[in-house]
Amino acid sequence: MQIDASGDPNLQAQRQRVMQLPATAQNIFVIGIDGARGPAVREAKTPRLDALFAQGVVTYQAQTVLPSVSYPAWGSMLTGVLPEKHQVREEHPLTDESPWPSWISRLSRCWDEPPAGVFGAWAPIITDLIEPGLRVHRAYAPDCALVPMAAAYVRYVKPRLFFIHLDAQDLVGHRRGYDSQAYMKQMTITDSWVGLLLDAIEDLGLTENSLTIVLSDHGGTTYEDGSFTHGGSSPEEMNVLWVCRGPGIQSGQEIKAPVNITDTAAVILTAAGIPLPDDWDAVVPEGIFVPA
Ligand SMILES: [Zn+2]
Repeated sequence: MQIDASGDPNLQAQRQRVMQLPATAQNIFVIGIDGARGPAVREAKTPRLDALFAQGVVTYQAQTVLPSVSYPAWGSMLTGVLPEKHQVREEHPLTDESPWPSWISRLSRCWDEPPAGVFGAWAPIITDLIEPGLRVHRAYAPDCALVPMAAAYVRYVKPRLFFIHLDAQDLVGHRRGYDSQAYMKQMTITDSWVGLLLDAIEDLGLTENSLTIVLSDHGGTTYEDGSFTHGGSSPEEMNVLWVCRGPGIQSGQEIKAPVNITDTAAVILTAAGIPLPDDWDAVVPEGIFVPA
């Protein structure tokens, strides 16, 4: 991802190429794991994520934005622009008039208000980062209650747009450390929750025509005062998990090109066959889509 992409002929050619892809993804499922440090996911026992990776592409070194905290990071994932542009923070939530609408809002318009559900373990992600006027099903609960609720919603409603934000991973990181045994154990539990959602997608027969992305917003580290937290620019805080599976997506590949959390929005729009806005910071990284 480059900050000033407008004048770069390579990136323009890349955009041109991806815009020629057929519109194949009928459903978009995005599973967000707050605080999943990329290299920790690689080390932890995560059979469901491993299986997803085998069917798609993965990087354990996707980069988040600065500061490496949830509001700006999920804000960039949703709007396709860097925090300097979207300016989303606690006292400045995304509004219906924002010049940088979320991809949920853009796709809702393009797809004529399809069934859409957003689920949050930390309510502000859903209330402050997704337009309040948007007609989507919204629900909030801790991960362990949220996941079965969201999986049931997927099974009954067959949403075309779906986003869930899981928070337990980051909570364990803050309490016990982002390289602790407890953190690695939680990664396996979080993996099983991801599995419940993947099962629902699979059982409905939606796997092949759906774009499924699992990603994180930041990692975490041990600060000098002994606290376990994040916000800085160290690799421990910046490197995050990013996995993607779907129609037109390569399979069994590790992505070599740099991926920024912001680029998630570009991959989503491209998979849906919708051209990227010219003023976006998000680009489609090389090595994700099968070349046209
Ligand atoms: Zn945190």
